[in-house]
Amino acid sequence: MSSPTLPSETADTADTGNAALVAAWQHSLTGCGPAAMQLLASLADAGAADMALHFYRLMMDDKRASRLLSHEQVRTRLQPAMQRWVSDLLLATPEKVEALIAAQRVVGDVHARVGIPVDLVTRGTRVLKQRLFQLILAQAGHGEVAHAACTSLSASFDIALEAMTLAYSNARERSTRTDAAYRLFSLMQNVGTERERQRALLLDWENTLLYTLASQGDDTTFQPLAGSEFGLWFLHKGIPSFGESPETEQICSLVREVDQILQQALHTPLDPQQRSARLQEVRIRVHQIRTLLGMLFERIGELEAGRDVLTNLLNRRFLPTVLRREIELAAKTGGSFAVLLLDLDHFKAINDAHGHEGGDQALQHVAAILSQFTRGSDYVFRYGGEEFVVVLVSVEERQALVIADGLCRRIADTPVVLADGSSLTISASIGVALHDGHPDYQLVMAKADAAMYEAKKRGRDQVVLASGDLPATPGQQALQRS
Ligand code: GH3
Ligand code: MG
Ligand code: MG
Repeated sequence: MSSPTLPSETADTADTGNAALVAAWQHSLTGCGPAAMQLLASLADAGAADMALHFYRLMMDDKRASRLLSHEQVRTRLQPAMQRWVSDLLLATPEKVEALIAAQRVVGDVHARVGIPVDLVTRGTRVLKQRLFQLILAQAGHGEVAHAACTSLSASFDIALEAMTLAYSNARERSTRTDAAYRLFSLMQNVGTERERQRALLLDWENTLLYTLASQGDDTTFQPLAGSEFGLWFLHKGIPSFGESPETEQICSLVREVDQILQQALHTPLDPQQRSARLQEVRIRVHQIRTLLGMLFERIGELEAGRDVLTNLLNRRFLPTVLRREIELAAKTGGSFAVLLLDLDHFKAINDAHGHEGGDQALQHVAAILSQFTRGSDYVFRYGGEEFVVVLVSVEERQALVIADGLCRRIADTPVVLADGSSLTISASIGVALHDGHPDYQLVMAKADAAMYEAKKRGRDQVVLASGDLPATPGQQALQRS
């Protein structure tokens, strides 16, 4: 059974920057002095609770924050989590620094997943810091100890925030890349075909130009490159698909240059030599466009991995993108969606009895059932070896269960016909979880996973709806700390 943690969104593995942060934090704590350390520690009990309350009130005043924090689970867990966070910083010692940094990075990852704007976090820590400064001054006056405590506390907050932001921006960058890949994938179903088509269109345009110039016909009707089929495709679909980049900009300016040169060449009387020189200038630019276009297509060539090769279902790396969108949509429209997690039963035995090829055919068979008996607006992913995820959009619990039951029955009732004419029966265990408004998509995945596990336990070939009392998952634990 796979973990519900999705690969493209897990904690950052690149530890660049970590060592420097650890060293800086340790240095600051070492220089703090025992009296100031003690003063900070004394604030951990009473101060931290006060801080958490203050922080929560402040955040609920902000519209964006209140949307994310109003979920009941977040509300009941955020305050104690905040309190722990503040108290951990107040009780920081050089020995604890590495663990503290690791904890901040988990928080940063959760913030990225849930989409908590970084400015809100920065504001929250700023306000907390100021409040703690006041407490320190009230307790220890304006002497040296208070000064040392303020300096150390300030460094702790800043470094914690920096570690959090580092993880946050790494995670956001990764998910932005996947989002962009998904957008492109959905725009251009077949990158290879599109590449050839656009190359051909560009070539057509160039040939027509040559023909027009050679025949010295009615030049003024000649189609500018910007208005040609290629030019229109590039502007409307190419740029949004590739994403704006120096290369796309360069193509745009080359297209403009080409049209300017032609405009002049076609509308002013030129001798054949001058014409040929102009034509050469155009051809150089069209050649550059072709090279740049090739580069852009090459860069996104990997996107054909958007679909799983064996089953032609969506690749699981797009699952976070889809779930994040659905969560946003549900928040806007008040609708809901469901996640079905399917794991085929005793698949090892199927492979053993019918060979890997037989197993592969069974996987294709199930994939076809899942695609055929869900709506075009639903999403079907190959989640792992013999595991699938179906995202049913715009459904309520009852509909989701009916669909899940239908899929379960169909899988069990439709034998797989193998290449040699023999057939085999298979079944699936399905976990169903409804999105309940929680902003973290890992939660709904974890619930579906636990429900699927329960279906296995109850004897397989059945559907289980996730209930509230599930074991805590990494996602949940991380959220409690945020
Ligand atoms: P359970 O009912 O508990 O799920 O039993 P299971 O045998 O299905 O156990 P499990 O889910 O742990 O094992 C999955 C097996 O699926 C292991 C692997 O041999 C097989 N498998 C995974 N990917 C593929 C694939 O692409 N093709 C084939 N033919 N088999 C695969
Ligand atoms: Mg499995
Ligand atoms: Mg299995």
